Amino acid sequence: MTDQSVLETNRSGGPEPEPDYEVVVIGAGVAGIYQIKRLVDLGVKATVLEGHEDLGGTWYKNRYPGARFDSESFTYGYSFSQEVLEEWHWTEQFSPQPETLRYLNFVADKFDLRQHMQFNCLVDAMSFDERTDTWTLRLRDGRDLTTRYVLTAIGVLSIPTMPHIEGMDRFEGESFHPFHWPQEPVDLSGKRVAVIGTGATAIQIIPEVAKEAEQLIVFQRRPNWAAPLNNAPISEEEMADIRRRYDEIFDACARTPGGFEHAPDRRGFYNVPREERLELWDRLYDGPGFGIWLQNFVEIFMDPDANAEFSDYIADRIRQRVDDPELAEKLIPTDHGFGIQRVPLETGYYEAYNRDNVELVDASETPIERITPSGIRTSRQDYDVDLIVYATGFDAFTGAFDRIDIEGLGGQKLRAKWADGPVTYLGLMVHGFPNLLMLAGPQIAATNFPRAVETAVDWATPLLEHAWEHGYTRFEATAEAELAWFDHVVDMYKPFLLRTAKSWITGYNSNLEGHEYGKTRYNLYNGGGPKYAARLDEVADNDYEGIAFS
Ligand code: NAP
Repeated sequence: MTDQSVLETNRSGGPEPEPDYEVVVIGAGVAGIYQIKRLVDLGVKATVLEGHEDLGGTWYKNRYPGARFDSESFTYGYSFSQEVLEEWHWTEQFSPQPETLRYLNFVADKFDLRQHMQFNCLVDAMSFDERTDTWTLRLRDGRDLTTRYVLTAIGVLSIPTMPHIEGMDRFEGESFHPFHWPQEPVDLSGKRVAVIGTGATAIQIIPEVAKEAEQLIVFQRRPNWAAPLNNAPISEEEMADIRRRYDEIFDACARTPGGFEHAPDRRGFYNVPREERLELWDRLYDGPGFGIWLQNFVEIFMDPDANAEFSDYIADRIRQRVDDPELAEKLIPTDHGFGIQRVPLETGYYEAYNRDNVELVDASETPIERITPSGIRTSRQDYDVDLIVYATGFDAFTGAFDRIDIEGLGGQKLRAKWADGPVTYLGLMVHGFPNLLMLAGPQIAATNFPRAVETAVDWATPLLEHAWEHGYTRFEATAEAELAWFDHVVDMYKPFLLRTAKSWITGYNSNLEGHEYGKTRYNLYNGGGPKYAARLDEVADNDYEGIAFS
């Protein structure tokens, strides 16, 4: 559709002035870059509003030492462009942050997409005008923009959360969340560093900081189950082979629940003798990436006994890697089984604790009481440090939406509607909020992120075309369709032990008000990528059932 035809479509609606844009995409990360490419190809008057100074989203912000993919690089990249697939060379099986950021810039520059992006453009509020079927966006810089459609690409883990510890503001050293790790390299030599938290982020940071800092003190409230990443370089020959296999690779990603090449073992946990189970686990533990999680027996994620047996296996592997047996026990979770929370992948994490300059403080035994001007005070002692890294997680999924004051039909606020957790249709739309599509919103399929994002963009774009072709100026998910999808999302949590997780998967974050353990917020669709994509196809094939157009 050309700019001209967009204008004609809109003119047929009446004498209202044209909105500034037909489509505004919020966010220039993995999702926003691909979405604007599709819109530019269609000739639509569209722009991307990005709050940060440059594109890249997660990969622009998270510059902490050790930041890299836990997904194989070649399954994380975009699949939409043969040219990009031919031209880009991943240098490592699991790309480090600087390379990933270069990749996203390469894609944006290749298709000349920067001209369609506005940086330092934070959207503070947006409201839907029922009379004109348009959104008005209020930007931090004071501007108002109008648009027919808003597509959010604002990230799922893009709002960092800090703990609430007395004295934080009076600490005299440096302190930050890894999301705000300074762009200039931080010289850690001779420094005493504290890391609070042991999630996936901290588990990447700790081994790197341990190598450089004079002293590293890790404050762990609850250990996480982590497993080796087993990264390796990618040679020219290997990359040539990957290029030959790209179709096969993306086909496999489309077939597996997690959007990876790793497919679950469906032989049945109890059908396979224990000796063979151990052989499989040895192979997976020493193999790359999420194999240990996603190529495992499905029963491990549903059956407490199977999960306990596998968790014992991983606990033994941890014991083999940590010299001090008492310390090893502290690093082994006892309140949840392996794979129930998102598994952090690590490179030398457990070995870091064998170093003389690394200390683990069990913050469940000796809680942090306050931050002093010179460091951290626990119930047992004071630790003087120069730098505190608060690796304390994110306001997952809904945080990025809550930050914007989004007002839909009848003055309803999205924040209020989602106060107890998100409710969506297909993870893409919300009843009461017309002309709003979420490309990386709550209740999208829990998969390798770009695979879910490409699915979302490839579905959202034809939906917009459908509206343009038919001269509609408004679409909205119906209340019934939204409720049915929500019930299905809830059902898809039921079979899995992850429903008991104390993590962002169930929407739990101890640093956020209203987040209580056991009060689940259904952030993800756990039915798997293929089932999710099939449902989207079905909706489109059935004339966009569940969506009212006008
Ligand atoms: P996280 O998994 O939520 O971990 C936060 C950590 O901080 C937990 O250990 C938590 O302890 C601790 N914590 C929070 N508040 C605390 C407090 N007040 N006092 C003491 N400890 C506190 O966050 P994350 O590590 O940033 O990871 C979030 C997600 O980002 C990951 O699950 C993953 O999906 C994504 N990620 C991806 C990659 C990658 O792909 N390579 C890398 C990093 C992160 P409790 O467990 O006791 O609450």
